[in-house]
Amino acid sequence: MRLLEYQGKELFKKYGIPVPVSEVIHGPAEVPAALNRIGLPAVVKAQVLAGGRGKAGGVAVVESESDAERQAARIMGLRIGGEKTSALLLERASTHSGEMYLSISLDRSRRSFVLIATRAGGIEVESTKDKVVEPVPVTGLTREAALSVATRLGLSGKSREDFVSIALRLERMLREEECELAEINPLASTSDGSMIALDSKVILDDNALFRHPDFSQLPPEDPLEGDATKEGFAFVRLDGNIAVIGNGAGLVLSTLDLVADAGGKPACFLDLGGGSQQSRVEAALRLVKKLPNAERVLVNIFGGITRTTDVAAGLRNVVAEGAMQPVYARISGAEETEARKALAGTQVRLYPTALEAVKAAVSSA
Ligand code: ADP
Ligand code: MG
Repeated sequence: MRLLEYQGKELFKKYGIPVPVSEVIHGPAEVPAALNRIGLPAVVKAQVLAGGRGKAGGVAVVESESDAERQAARIMGLRIGGEKTSALLLERASTHSGEMYLSISLDRSRRSFVLIATRAGGIEVESTKDKVVEPVPVTGLTREAALSVATRLGLSGKSREDFVSIALRLERMLREEECELAEINPLASTSDGSMIALDSKVILDDNALFRHPDFSQLPPEDPLEGDATKEGFAFVRLDGNIAVIGNGAGLVLSTLDLVADAGGKPACFLDLGGGSQQSRVEAALRLVKKLPNAERVLVNIFGGITRTTDVAAGLRNVVAEGAMQPVYARISGAEETEARKALAGTQVRLYPTALEAVKAAVSSA
């Protein structure tokens, strides 16, 4: 699991790695209050998982409140690497003289961790020649090894001390939080030699997430995804206009294929899971109701363990609430005839096969 910049910086703070004062905001309206606490000049930064936000226009230095509001509005509208910006980090601008790169990551070919540092930060480290590479043994990074890296980088005095302390803290964080990567780019050095992390990139090991319940409680970036997780749905937002709901990942995936074959584009993947009860069907429909790009809802249920009468009752209830997109459904399996009866006279359009339901949904959208 890759963390957003602000989430990575929360971890940095926990381990005593210096970061600028900052606050997460969701639009220009929250700028004045946040700026009061942060001060000017500040930096407005898109919180997306994609890298290279600076180049994509997702990072802006601001000198005044109105400037900050303007930039916040602009950046909130940006898509970076196909990803919508759902939050911003408003951060104190640091006045610094140098930018370095520091990372510790899992090197699969060496089957161990490796520390990489360069004096030239901010840019892609792959293209740098003068990098210092230090293997990190399973017993952890020693102070001696960190000092040796600092010396090879040509650091001295306070910058050397700060670098060593940050490298040791970063390595402890990586180990205790079970990260695959912990990267600071840039690690800025100020004129008095002190160092501060201006960006974070942290990837947690998914296999160890159960040992870190804090992270599973991190606010999801997409409120709909948060709702879906609470309900236990497998849910993925997509770019098209037909919301696809089904029971079983295989069935939902093949329905996505049918939609694509029929010339349509799915708005989401939503797997109710097996044994879907009426309340789950209702929750799923209420969720896709909130999907702004979904113009049609396609429900494909194969009743095995699922009672189709439960599905029909759920559909009936939510459609009766109103404001629902047109629903195209294929419901087959146990108690199918009863389910059909329950839906007669409602706005749910029932089809005998998935293909017919898909074609009807696509051609109407
Ligand atoms: P990305 O790596 O996604 O482009 P960064 O967070 O590294 O985003 O920001 C890009 C550049 O913006 C940094 O290399 C740094 O020069 C500058 N920058 C970022 N945060 C600050 C800050 N708080 N103060 C001053 N400059 C910053
Ligand atoms: Mg960066």
